Amino acid sequence: MRNWAGNIIFSAASVERPTSIEQLQDVVRRAQRVRALGSGHSFNRLADTDGTLVSLADMPRIVEVDSAAHQVRIDGGATYTDIVGALHEAGYGLGNVASLPHITVAGAVTTATHGSGDTNRNLAAAVAALKIVTASGEIVSFQRGDADFEGAVVNLGALGIISELTLDLIPGYEIAQNVYVGLPVTNVLDHFDALMSRAYSVSLFTRWQGKAVDQLWVKSIAGGDPVPEILGARAADRAYHPIPDYDGNDCTPQMGVAGPWHERLFHFPVGHKASAGAEVQSEHFVRRADAAAAFAAIHKVQDQFSSALFVSEVRSVAADDLWLSTAYGQETIGFHFTWKPDWEPTLAGVKVVEAALAPLSPRPHWAKVFTLRPEVIRPLYPRLEDFRALAQRLDPDGKFRNQMVEKLIFADR
Ligand SMILES: Cc1cc2nc3c(=O)[nH]c(=O)nc-3n(C[C@H](O)[C@H](O)[C@H](O)COP(=O)(O)OP(=O)(O)OC[C@H]3O[C@@H](n4cnc5c(N)ncnc54)[C@H](O)[C@@H]3O)c2cc1C
Repeated sequence: MRNWAGNIIFSAASVERPTSIEQLQDVVRRAQRVRALGSGHSFNRLADTDGTLVSLADMPRIVEVDSAAHQVRIDGGATYTDIVGALHEAGYGLGNVASLPHITVAGAVTTATHGSGDTNRNLAAAVAALKIVTASGEIVSFQRGDADFEGAVVNLGALGIISELTLDLIPGYEIAQNVYVGLPVTNVLDHFDALMSRAYSVSLFTRWQGKAVDQLWVKSIAGGDPVPEILGARAADRAYHPIPDYDGNDCTPQMGVAGPWHERLFHFPVGHKASAGAEVQSEHFVRRADAAAAFAAIHKVQDQFSSALFVSEVRSVAADDLWLSTAYGQETIGFHFTWKPDWEPTLAGVKVVEAALAPLSPRPHWAKVFTLRPEVIRPLYPRLEDFRALAQRLDPDGKFRNQMVEKLIFADR
C-alpha cells in the first residue's frame, strides 16, 4: 500500500476496514500498534505504522446538519467531497478549505491542514467537538471549552482514532475567482500585506524563476469583474492551472464568474484530479511579520532549487490556539513547494529552502516533507509538554505512536 503521491510504501503488518463503531473499538482494543489512515495524501510517514493501519472509508457516512447550532456532525472517515455538497444544499458553508476536497476531514484536522486568507484559520479551528477511540477502545469526547480540547484537535493521530467530528458552519456564500499573471517580485516585497489582504482568500503561485511571481489568485466574496491589473500583474485572459503547463480547466472556475463557495474556494474541483499527481510537497510557516523577509530569503537562493520544482504557493493563515497547530499563537504565512517526483533534487531543494528560512524559525507542515530536526521543531510549540501529558494519559503504552511521531514528539521521555 502506498500513499497518494506514491513516495511512501506503508509498513503495516495488517490493514483493517471496520464498518461500525463497535468493530473499530474492537480493532483498536486488540491491536498492539495502530494508526488511522485517511485518504493517504500525506507526503511523509506520519500515517504509517508497523502494526495495524485502520481505514474508516467503509464506516457509515454521517453528515448531520444541526441548524439550531449551525454545526455539522460527521464521521471520522468522511472526506470534504462527502460533505460539502450537503452543506451547500442546507444553506451552509465552511469558512475555509484546503486546495482539494479529496482528503478526509479527520486527516486534515489532525495535521493542521490549511487554506488561505488573512482571517481564515486552519481547518482544525472549525472543530467544535470530537470523539476519539482511545487505546482501551473507550470513546473519549472533547468539546470546545473542555480542558485539553485545544490539545486534542491537531493530534498527529497520536491520541487515538477520531470517530466523529462536529464542525462550525457559516451561512453559505458565493466566491468569484480571478487570476492575475506576472506580478513583479519587488511589488510582492513592498506590498505583501496589501496583496494578501486584498480578498477573502489570496494565493501567490510561483516557480521561483526570474523577477516575477507567475500567478496571483484572488478569491473574493462578492462581485466578479476583475480589475485589469494589480500591482503590475495583469488579469488573465483564460483559465490557469497553478502549474503553468497544465490545463486551467482542471481547476475551479475562474474569470470572475461567481459561484457557490465549495465550487471556488478549493483550487481543484470535486471529481477532478488534484495538482500534478506524481509530486512531492513541502511547506514551512513563518510569522506573518517575517513574510517579506522570508520571501526575499527564498528569492535570493531560487536558482539553487527552481529546476526541481513544479510550482510553489504562498498563503496566509490566521492565528489559532490549538497546541500543535502550525499557526499556534501567530498570524502565519505558508511557503509551500510542489516538487517533481525526483527524490534527490527534491531533498536538496527542501534543504536549501529550510536553510534560507532558518533565521526565521519556520514550523514545517506535519504532513509534508521536511528535514528539520526534532530538537529544532519542539521549542516552536510552547504547549508541547502539555500535549505529551495528554497523549500519556490517553495512550499510556504508546499504541498510537509510530517511528515518526515518537522521534518528533516523544523521543526524550
Ligand atoms: C494534492 C495535495 C494537495 C494538498 N493541499 C493541501 C493544502 O491546500 N493545505 C494543506 O495544509 N495541506 C495540503 N495537503 C496535505 C494534506 O492536507 C494532508 O496530508 C492531510 O493530512 C491529508 O489528509 P488525509 O485524509 O489524506 O490524511 P492521511 O495522509 O491519510 O493521514 C494524515 C494523518 O492523519 C491521521 N488520521 C487520518 N484519519 C484519522 C482519524 N480518523 N483519526 C485520527 N487520525 C487520523 C493519520 O494517522 C495521519 O497521522 C495536500 C496534499 C495533496 C496530496
